[in-house]
Formats: sequence, structure tokens, C-alpha cells
Amino acid sequence: MNRRDLLLSMGAAAMTPELTASARAADQKQVLPLEQFQPRSMLHTQETRVPRSAFPVIDMHTHITHAGGLEGPGEIRFAASAEECLTVMDRKNIRTMVNLTSGYGANLQQAIDKLQTAYPERFIVFTEPAWSRAADADYSKVQADLIADAHQRGAKGLKILKILGLYLRENVTTGTLVRIDDPRFDAMWEAAGSFNMPVAIHSSDPEAFFLPVDRFNERWEELNAHPDWSFYGRDFPTNRELQEARRNVMRRHPRTQFVCLHVADSEDLQYVSECLDTHPNMHVEMAARIGELGRQPRAAYQFIERYQDRVMFGTDAVPGGKDTPQQVFNDRLYEIYYRFLETNDEYFDYAPAPIPPQGRWRIYGLGLPEPILRKIYLENAARLLNLSA
Ligand SMILES: [Zn+2]
Repeated sequence: MNRRDLLLSMGAAAMTPELTASARAADQKQVLPLEQFQPRSMLHTQETRVPRSAFPVIDMHTHITHAGGLEGPGEIRFAASAEECLTVMDRKNIRTMVNLTSGYGANLQQAIDKLQTAYPERFIVFTEPAWSRAADADYSKVQADLIADAHQRGAKGLKILKILGLYLRENVTTGTLVRIDDPRFDAMWEAAGSFNMPVAIHSSDPEAFFLPVDRFNERWEELNAHPDWSFYGRDFPTNRELQEARRNVMRRHPRTQFVCLHVADSEDLQYVSECLDTHPNMHVEMAARIGELGRQPRAAYQFIERYQDRVMFGTDAVPGGKDTPQQVFNDRLYEIYYRFLETNDEYFDYAPAPIPPQGRWRIYGLGLPEPILRKIYLENAARLLNLSA
């Protein structure tokens, strides 16, 4: 029985003017496409603007350059010049940007020259593996040698994209997926450790990316906008299998420091805590996950408080980036992160976009105390990267 029939069955005596009006309204119900629904919060909450961070910032996770992927090194692309970045950095109190995706060899050299050498301590450059050679018989040695070469050129760390685990296959682009803990990379992990180059590693993705893209998926809109971000079905491992393979690597290479990006790619803080407890060489950074941390502010606060020496600030910033508003490198991006970490503001947007891009929820500030802010903004990354703090 629908609402109108119910009201009718209650008889005319029960039909107060209010009820008849609502029965009529039910008849005239309209359909509103989800993408047009942009509700404005009617809460009268505190709005604190934080134009500069409480302490100088090392942004552990940025992409000023891109240097190819699976198929070969390609040409390095600069999304912005060092000078363009510096204007935002100076306004927002960002001391250092860590540029993760600089490739290797000649590409890496360009990134080092134009960023790190031109502006020491303002930019730090990481290297990346030569994925296109991963099927070569002598890859283990080639890759370890490339790490030595990158170190010689001045690279301060190694970046692993989720290419490893989700895209790289036995014949690079075809065949079965190569596991994160495949032994052919052991020499690479060891080389990075021997040169004190931390490994910034992104494996896996939000849990919803591994689930059917249906009406129960909390990231339906995000996955509908980016269908290629879904790793549901086909021959993809589960989120947990990827995580466990990465744990095998951390376990096998205890002298190598791993920074698991995006809060270890997990919304499950209990699981991440268990990993941090088991692997003393594991650290996390928070880029593009304040939407997750900020909708569970009490658990997030406890997590950061407990692991305050191993959590780092990062944004995943891309200068000029377009279809991911949560990553565009500009003043607004940083102000949201600072507001989240420093204030007790409630129920605000985690990204500068009319519709929350990762899911329809809002976040709550953590109001972290100054000693913890100093560690996550600056000191933890400085220690790992051998920079002054
Ligand atoms: Zn990134």
C-alpha cells in the first residue's frame, strides 16, 4: 500500500488539511538527477580560514613532473615551472615540495636540474623504476644499477606507482599481473635502503574501487566519472591481497623505509595500525585521504596521535590538474588541509568542488596540538629525507 492509499483508507475524518497536502505532494513527486543535487548545509558552524600552516610544510607527495609509465620513459613533462610553484609555496608556508614522478636517467636529471639543484631544499626529487624493462632477463641488476645511478644524480627517494600490482604484467602490458612482492624487485628495494632513499609507495586504492559499481557503492559518482579507476572483477587482486603483498616486501627489507601513500590506501585504520605495529620501517602520508580521515575524526585523531612520529603531510598536488579537484595545486587545496589538521571546524568540504568528488560526505577538523602538527608538517619528513627541520 502506498502512502496515498494509506491516507485514503484512513477515511475522510483523518484527512487533516496537512495530510491531504502531503498526499497531493506524493502524487506530484519529481525525479532529481543525482548530479544536479547540490544541497547546501544549513548548519551554522564555525568557519576558520587558515591561509598559512602553523609550521613550515614539507609536502611529501606532489607531481610537478610526469615521466612516462609502463611502455617506456617517454619525455618528461613539467606541469609547472619551479618559479610558478614557488609563488604558491611562499604564500602557503610550504618549505619543500617532494616531486615523486621524475622517472630515471635523462628525465630524472632534468627534474633534478630544474627543481632540486635550482632551489635546494625547496624541491626534492624522487626516481621511478624502469617498468618497460621489467620483463628483461637481467632486470634485477639493471634496476638496482638504475637506483645507484639515480642516487648518484641526487635523487632522494624512490616512487612506486600502483603500476606495480595493478598494471604491470609479465610481458609489461600483457600476461598475468606481476605481484608487488615478486623477487625480481628485491635488489631494487635493497638498493634503495642501502642509499637511505625512502620508498614512497602507492599500492591499491579505496575499497570501493574493488567493489561492483552499483547503487550500493559509496563512490558511484567518482567511478562513473572515471570508469577506468575500477578494479572490480577481471584478474585484479583484492585490495587486501595488494596490501598483504606490500607487507611481504616491508618484512623482507627491514632496512628500507617505506612511506605508504594515501594512509596506506586504506580506509581501515585498524588494519593500517596493525601494519604499522608490525613493520617499524613503515610510515604513512595522507594525500587525497582527508575525506576518509575527516569523516571519522575521532578515530583519525587517535591514529595520528598514536603514530605521530610516522605520519606525514602530503596532498598529491598536480599543478594545473583538472578532473580531480582534490588534487589541483593551488592556495585553496592547502587551506583545506590546514583547516582539517588545525581547527575544530565541523562539516566542511574536503575538496574545492560543488559536489564532493570522492563521495557525498563532509569532514570535521582534528584540531591537532602544535607538537603533533610540527611533526607531521615538517619534522617526520625532514628526518626521513635528511633535511634540516
Ligand atoms: Zn600521487
